[in-house]
Amino acid sequence: LPEVKRYLWSVEDVRQTLPKRVSHSHKGSHGKGVMAGGSYFMPGSIAMAARAALRSGTGLLTIATAESIIPSVTSYVQEATFSGLAEKEGMITGQAIPELSKYDGAAIGMGLGRHEEAAGLVLHMLQECKGPLLIDADGLYVLKPVLNALKNRSQPTVLTPHPGEFAYIAGLSIQEILQSPFRISREFASDYGVYLVLKGPYTIITAPDGEQRVDMTGNAGLAKGGSGDVLSGILFGMMLQSENILDALSNGCVIHGSTADLLIQEEHSKTDLLASDLVEGLSRTFRTFS
Ligand code: AMP
Ligand code: MG
Repeated sequence: LPEVKRYLWSVEDVRQTLPKRVSHSHKGSHGKGVMAGGSYFMPGSIAMAARAALRSGTGLLTIATAESIIPSVTSYVQEATFSGLAEKEGMITGQAIPELSKYDGAAIGMGLGRHEEAAGLVLHMLQECKGPLLIDADGLYVLKPVLNALKNRSQPTVLTPHPGEFAYIAGLSIQEILQSPFRISREFASDYGVYLVLKGPYTIITAPDGEQRVDMTGNAGLAKGGSGDVLSGILFGMMLQSENILDALSNGCVIHGSTADLLIQEEHSKTDLLASDLVEGLSRTFRTFS
């Protein structure tokens, strides 16, 4: 059997691998991304993910979402631009992102909803996104019937499931996943050629070649709706700014968890900490790395 490379990623590793912002850079140097998702009933997911991506250094961000929620999302994410997609009953039915190939990378799924029409949009992104692509949350549910399309991607694809989502797409029970999370992650990442971020009290990051990183940061203050959306935004920002996807994902997970750890020591508690506090708390974490 090939040797398994597994490594506990720490704040010190982040310090050593986080790309520095060079003084002569401009907004185009830090990634131009598009994030698709959101629905009338879940505008907060895409809004927090987008704001987290911007707080993580993304140069330019476009939010592709249901036209009717643009006003509410923009009030929380003033720096983003928008692409309004067709919708039905508050959920995206549009099947394509205008000029998708002009972006350096894309993300889909946060607050998307699990309706059938969304599968067309996910397929479109798998086929037309010429840079790294992140798929989270409802995007994972609608991906399930077209899972084999992952194998045709030439650019990196990142899936960020919690154990319930991973069990669903892998066709296993949650118990099976929790019993052998490392092995099952490696098998799935290798079979589909994807990067897999399996979230939980500790998070396992697996590369398509089987290399694994573990992130032990974070606390039960994160066990609330919205934490995963913020993580997706951070990961997306990191992916847009680094050639090394495994480092980008490892760094994003540690930045997310250590921000939660810092906030429950200094200002919040595990009880009151909100996902949106995490987005604003990113400033403190990034200051310790510059
Ligand atoms: P999601 O389930 O998609 O909202 O994602 C939840 C996020 O919070 C992931 O990044 C998890 O790793 C993190 N998280 C949830 N519960 C805990 C916990 N008890 N300890 C540490 N991190 C957690
Ligand atoms: Mg989630």
